[in-house]
Amino acid sequence: MQIEKSVRAVERLLKEIDQDSSRFLNQVEVRCPTGCNKCCHGKNVAATPLEFLPYAYHLFKTGELEDKYWELKLKEGTSCVLVEGDEHSLTGQCSIYEHRGVICRLFGNCASVDKSGQKQYSACSILKGQIVDKEKFQLTLQASAPVYSNYYMKLRSIDNTHGSMLFPINIAILKSLELVYNNTRRKRKRAV
Ligand code: SF4
Ligand code: SF4
Repeated sequence: MQIEKSVRAVERLLKEIDQDSSRFLNQVEVRCPTGCNKCCHGKNVAATPLEFLPYAYHLFKTGELEDKYWELKLKEGTSCVLVEGDEHSLTGQCSIYEHRGVICRLFGNCASVDKSGQKQYSACSILKGQIVDKEKFQLTLQASAPVYSNYYMKLRSIDNTHGSMLFPINIAILKSLELVYNNTRRKRKRAV
């Protein structure tokens, strides 16, 4: 695996997601309340190792990769290992916001497509409860909401192995750190 090449490709994809999500959000009334991080405490959040590759590579570049791996591995509980703050205080945040993954960027800003080809809004009850004009929201959703599967397809095209398998998010994050560790052995040896 050419690690730098994959990192750059995932970074480009994350940027594309941000642009597409902003375009959709600018047309609708839903907004995450400041400090809300309830979804980061969800028990069933799934992700691929590849979407956290830029984060893991950043840790390698800053020399924190191994220490962070053991710190995260030893964390207990079902919340994402990278969330700060509790679920109820509205003072929470993602500790790696700039490097957060595909799922973190899309949930609440995107749609899945049902069997009839209709987009279904993918969001929590907080965001769904903010929709005032349901008809207008539906029209905007169908016309401009980003669709999950498009980005996961692009992720797979970067690396079919690590971009296709979904794991519970904490496992995906650890696998991403392992991936960078295993693909930077030679560089680490040179640095010693
Ligand atoms: S998606 Fe929902 S749960 Fe997650 S931060 Fe936004 S409002 Fe909170
Ligand atoms: S990586 Fe950050 S945004 Fe994503 S689930 Fe974890 S804490 Fe939340």
